Amino acid sequence: MTEKFVREKLPASIRAHIELLERMRQDFVANVSHELRTPLTVIRGYVELLKDQPEFQTSRYAPMFTHMLEHTLRMGHLIDDLLLLSHLESHEQEVEVGEVVDVPALLFRVVDDAKNISGDNEHHITLTADSNLKLIGIKEELKSLFSNLIINAVKYTPKQGSVFIHWEVVDGQPVFFVKDTGIGIAKKHLPRITERFYRVDKARSRESGGTGLGLAIVKHVVLRHEAELRIESKLHEGSTFTCLFPMSRLANGAKS
Ligand code: ADP
Repeated sequence: MTEKFVREKLPASIRAHIELLERMRQDFVANVSHELRTPLTVIRGYVELLKDQPEFQTSRYAPMFTHMLEHTLRMGHLIDDLLLLSHLESHEQEVEVGEVVDVPALLFRVVDDAKNISGDNEHHITLTADSNLKLIGIKEELKSLFSNLIINAVKYTPKQGSVFIHWEVVDGQPVFFVKDTGIGIAKKHLPRITERFYRVDKARSRESGGTGLGLAIVKHVVLRHEAELRIESKLHEGSTFTCLFPMSRLANGAKS
């Protein structure tokens, strides 16, 4: 039974109360995240400044500054993701008036980032994109969707593994998918994998700089763009994350 189905069966007064509590929770998270942003920016500025001082660069404190900077950057990503998620949760309705988003151009940029992140791990990353296929939507949200899925594929695929990214029309529907030959996800985790902060291996996720919010963001962006998210995975073999968009979201003249 889905949460939505259970909720629809409740008396209206209880439903209204639950909605109020949810809004309070969302506002609280958004406000805290917002308040943390400024002090964190100040701390980060000072850490960067100190780290670059010649007397510290050669001292025994040097690794401490590097460590502090890593953690302030991680906290910054966490705050950004929390703010984006709060925004998405408070705008659950579908995007009606979007812009024309050049998905192939967006994907080229994300793939570049993914190659940088892969670095010495030398993943084989290939992108196959139909250059005519543009979507009506919100560019920043779609960028976050593609980036979370592609960067996850790199993070959870061991050295020299492969990541295949496709953007094309399949059976009359615009489809984005990313397939990796990585560590995979055991079946028991799949139903909960898009929940906030749900991680299969907390230590590994933190080590790779993950916030634990990526797939929750993906789920919301997919809903707002009337798409469907499918996740297929086999432990030790790899995963495929697929987003199926409705034809109605294609920008005019893009239907190839
Ligand atoms: P994180 O920041 O931890 O990567 P996400 O919400 O993006 O958070 O992903 C949640 C969890 O799903 C991850 O911690 C990881 O356990 C699992 N996961 C996501 N993508 C993949 C993938 N491509 N291969 C294997 N596991 C994955």
